[in-house]
Amino acid sequence: MLKFRISILLVALLLSNVRLVQASEGMWLPLLLKSMNEGDMQSRGFKLTAEDIYSINRNSMKDAVVHFGGGCTGEIISSEGLLLTNHHCGYSQIQSHSSLENDYLSNGFWAMSKEEELPNPGLTATFIIRMADVTWKVLDGVTESMSEEERQKLIKDNMEKIKAQETEGTHYDASIKAFYYGNEYYLFITETFKDVRLVGAPPSSIGKFGFDTDNWVWPRHTGDFSIFRIYANQDNQPAEYSKDNVPFTPRHHFPINLNGVEEGDFTMVYGFPGRTEEYLPSYAVDYVLNVGNPAKIESRRTSLSIIDAAMRSDAKVRIQYAAKQSRISNAYKKWIGQSRGLKRLKAIEMKEKVEAEFTAKVNEKPKYKEDYGQLLPQFKEKYEAVKPYSLARDYFIEIFYYGPEILRFASGWNTLLAEATKAEVDEAKLQEEIEKQKRRVKGFFKNYHQPTDEKLFAAMMPLYQKGVQANLQPDVFTNLVAKKYGNDFEKYGDFIYGKTLLMNEANLLSILDKFSGKIAKKMKADPAIILTNQMLDAYWGKVRPTYSNLKNDIDRLMRTYMDAQRILLPKPNYYPDANSTLRLTYGKMEGYNPADAVTYRSYTTLSGIAQKYIPESYEFDVPGKLLDLYETKDYGLYGKNGEMRVCFIASNHTSGGNSGSPVIDGEGNLIGLNFDRTWESTMSDIVYDPTICRNIAVDIRYVLFIIDKFAGASHLISEMDLIHADLAAKKEAERAKIKAELDKEREERLKGQ
Ligand code: ASP
Repeated sequence: MLKFRISILLVALLLSNVRLVQASEGMWLPLLLKSMNEGDMQSRGFKLTAEDIYSINRNSMKDAVVHFGGGCTGEIISSEGLLLTNHHCGYSQIQSHSSLENDYLSNGFWAMSKEEELPNPGLTATFIIRMADVTWKVLDGVTESMSEEERQKLIKDNMEKIKAQETEGTHYDASIKAFYYGNEYYLFITETFKDVRLVGAPPSSIGKFGFDTDNWVWPRHTGDFSIFRIYANQDNQPAEYSKDNVPFTPRHHFPINLNGVEEGDFTMVYGFPGRTEEYLPSYAVDYVLNVGNPAKIESRRTSLSIIDAAMRSDAKVRIQYAAKQSRISNAYKKWIGQSRGLKRLKAIEMKEKVEAEFTAKVNEKPKYKEDYGQLLPQFKEKYEAVKPYSLARDYFIEIFYYGPEILRFASGWNTLLAEATKAEVDEAKLQEEIEKQKRRVKGFFKNYHQPTDEKLFAAMMPLYQKGVQANLQPDVFTNLVAKKYGNDFEKYGDFIYGKTLLMNEANLLSILDKFSGKIAKKMKADPAIILTNQMLDAYWGKVRPTYSNLKNDIDRLMRTYMDAQRILLPKPNYYPDANSTLRLTYGKMEGYNPADAVTYRSYTTLSGIAQKYIPESYEFDVPGKLLDLYETKDYGLYGKNGEMRVCFIASNHTSGGNSGSPVIDGEGNLIGLNFDRTWESTMSDIVYDPTICRNIAVDIRYVLFIIDKFAGASHLISEMDLIHADLAAKKEAERAKIKAELDKEREERLKGQ
């Protein structure tokens, strides 16, 4: 018997070892690294300890990683608060400082002194001070017999109490997030800086090189980085922007490894991945693949064809729509790749296999049957029921938030109009709203091109009408648009854009100067405002309630299913889905085989940029200076063997939100800046395949080469801690020289005695 036990143990160990050797899947919670991953990481080439990555007792790498702007990651690379993130993460800031005269998108921007660094109202950088498992406290008082509403209410109350207790008397914030679909809860104590200034950005021909064609694609040659600096008050604490603020002194900043990284080297990525859904049932994947993605892809294809054409034909529109275009096209291309990947992996069948295994386990014991026997049939029923509502929601989001901007702009008037037409008007509040609205109007028209918007309206509204089930549509579609305009949205658009007051900036500003209840009443009858409110009413009245109810049911099932999977289908180290919290993922620099007979090397070089170069091309033009540096091979410390590395790929399990994350070597030094995944990896938010999933990083040497040799901003390099064999040798030689001089002096002194 003992022998049998031992051999089971051995097999289990062997199996887990196989997994240890192969798997790079997983986004791990930093505070659990010690117990879950440290040994595995060290066996793969990690030279430090979990405590060096995350510690609450001393400075650690977490003190150099920030949530940048709430959606990306950034890392601190100098003792003076210098922050590195992606060009695409700083894109809207770079764009907001750009104009036809100062086109930083096209030409780049470099502050040559701290005085030239540009403030960015609203931009934040958030550090994690500590995190803790608070599951028991959050679930305190929760019972099985509670309704979902009661449960959620109690959880919310508990959370508020914990957050208040944990931040009392500090300038920190707290958030609590659900993990494993509400089976566990973690607390995050954070410190958010609000004065984050733009320091440098390469021209888009470097920072966005390859544009949409290369986005999500390997081999890649994009210098996707931008540099900011965090400012603090005199006490080194967060403060609103002020001229008196000073550069922030971080608790830790990353040393930079200029010796470089090679195939097979250990790599890890530390950042804030946004959202993954690795444990979904097959029905959910079926929705993504066969319903949601096709609708969203069609919608974005439609808008991009219009925006791209407008940007190509008008230089001003190119700047105005640059950030919007990027936002739309990034997800568009990702969804196409994701659908391909899901098909290629036969993801639905994969999930069905898991479900078959699960069902077999459930059937083993009556107790399991009782607890989990109904899970999968209920999933099936709920997913079927929610389908039209999910689709209507997808269309609503696509049209309302990524479609014709007149809709969002019109909806932004509602608060003011309501305030101005109240029975008892609060004058102070009204004045505040009027001022807010003036700022909105100016901001809106800065980046607005009406002819483009009209085209978007005419092309995208029919998609909504065609895609959304008739009883979930706004009444105006079924009445006015169908009856009066014969469902011709171009004609209907002519009416809306022609009649609305909202398209004339000067007029709106003068209306706001003399705003009154009477004007507000008139504006409430504006056709654009009526349309937008009908769309909002249809969504909030007809779609959202049923969607939310069914979604709550699904979430509840998911909570049980997640728990049940962990019990019935044990595998080493289930990791929680990404939820915009700090995670570490590790793997190694490695190439892959994307298709039969195709092998990808794990890094690219500057010669690839020269090969892709197409003069005057929107996507593949290259700055003359970069070509000169390539010709003369003037790479300084940043090149190796006459080569300038540009990007590399590694098997690190990343997601959106990991954009801008540090890629770190086994000794805790920065070797790259994560910015993307390969085309074949885009399904990794739903199913991860270690053989082909790769993240893409800019090699840190290319980043520094551009800052130093291309932009001449070497004052920034002097702030950083560089690790390089030549520098080390130079330092060693200097040290030896000083020692020799001292020895000589001593000898002479002795002689003289
Ligand atoms: N480039 C990606 C993004 O920002 C990063 C990723 O998803 O891997 O969406």
